[in-house]
Amino acid sequence: MSDFWRLTAHEAHEKLRAKEFSSLELTRSVLDRIAEVEPKVHAYITNTPELALEQAREADSRYASGTATPLTGIPVAVKDLIVTKGTRTTAASRILENFIPPYDSHVYEQLRKAGAVMVGKANLDEFAMGSSTEHSAFGPTHNPWNLDLVPGGSSGGSAAAIAAGEAILSLGSDTGGSIRQPAALCGVVGLDPTYGRVSRFGIIAFGSSLDQVGPIGRDVEDVATMLQCIGGHDPRDSTSNPEPMPDMRHYLGRDIRGMKVGVPREYFISGMEPGVKARIEEALKTLDSLGAEIDTSLSLPSTEHALAVYYIIAPSEASANLARYDGVKYGFSDRSGPTMWDNMEQTRAQGFGNEVKRRIMLGTYALSAGYYDAFYLKAQKVRTVINNEFAAAFAKYDVIVTPTSPTVAFPIGAKVDDPYAMYLNDVYTLPASVAGLPSISVPCGFSEGLPVGLQIIGNFFDEGRVLQVASAYEAAGGWANQVAGL
Ligand code: GLN
Repeated sequence: MSDFWRLTAHEAHEKLRAKEFSSLELTRSVLDRIAEVEPKVHAYITNTPELALEQAREADSRYASGTATPLTGIPVAVKDLIVTKGTRTTAASRILENFIPPYDSHVYEQLRKAGAVMVGKANLDEFAMGSSTEHSAFGPTHNPWNLDLVPGGSSGGSAAAIAAGEAILSLGSDTGGSIRQPAALCGVVGLDPTYGRVSRFGIIAFGSSLDQVGPIGRDVEDVATMLQCIGGHDPRDSTSNPEPMPDMRHYLGRDIRGMKVGVPREYFISGMEPGVKARIEEALKTLDSLGAEIDTSLSLPSTEHALAVYYIIAPSEASANLARYDGVKYGFSDRSGPTMWDNMEQTRAQGFGNEVKRRIMLGTYALSAGYYDAFYLKAQKVRTVINNEFAAAFAKYDVIVTPTSPTVAFPIGAKVDDPYAMYLNDVYTLPASVAGLPSISVPCGFSEGLPVGLQIIGNFFDEGRVLQVASAYEAAGGWANQVAGL
């Protein structure tokens, strides 16, 4: 069996251009790898081998006619929260178990235009609510580095697929950390773009003021290439940024001498594992040796409030967004009751899992007349304070560097019954999400044999500089293109 599935997208693209193999052969290699390891990893909810082979044939004709672009013929996984015309899209929920979308999301449309090959729809926490992919109605994904552990979440399937060699690139979505945290726990690269950089058209909504789609890959270059493909203006999303997107690849492989890097002291809290702390300190030394100016005196005092702010705003928005699942318009419907109200109640009681119900209750409560000012409005005000602290920091620094997650991957089952412990996984990723800033997680070594991630946060629409620092670090740190030895 060929091991073309080990390649990065840019390596594969070069070889496809050089006719060393065809996209059909590359796709078959990935499909064989899926057949081999998917029973252990469960990165996918749905696999699409026939579609993949058909798209691979189309890709081969584009290579033959000289119209291929960097993602043409590259096997990708798409988080099952991203709608794909004609291919079941479930959001990992029973309520959408049989939902076949009648249209494509903007991001999938962009992938199709680029000639990418979709091998499947990746597993996630139901409606992207969670940090471990255990809240999937279709069962958990396993971390390819140790199958007893979680891959992180909510884009756990998208990250595990890359770490296991079951796709070369993937799309995840990030509301409070769901791209970066699983990327960190699986030893791959994940980028959450600036809010507004990537269209949310056709993304099943969770927290609309926070949701953003982004790439997960085995190195920084691949992630930059994927962002180039999916980013840019889309008039179908009113929050999509109309400014043209710069060429992200321009920032790769450049030096970072003189760049100002802020390291906020609030991110080095108790609860961070010593092994994680050690890897982050080594990474800072690497950045220093590359000529960056590291300043550890930065303080972002409201960091600790980001978690509370997020867990008011995201559930509030979720409670409104999920009101559409009423058994009438989409998916699962229980029609056995005597009245419409009974049917709606039964549809939602059976269709949603416990975490989703918890979020709907929290959000409905926070938005209710007597509590709106005390919770929702207050959270929005604190959100502004957090934004202002970041704005002040970016007046001084080019990027902010922190750990991505306080811990390495944890055992399946360890936190699933303790929502608060689960929510704490995202303490380091939530602040940038609340502010809408771009941030990336890049692998920075191992602790107890498990991957650790370094988070680099940039100013609004400054993905370029985030990628520049990430690419320089990757080149010096040597943690690119890791596939777990399954
Ligand atoms: N873990 C966070 C949550 O449960 C973030 C999830 C996400 O980014 N989609 O809401």
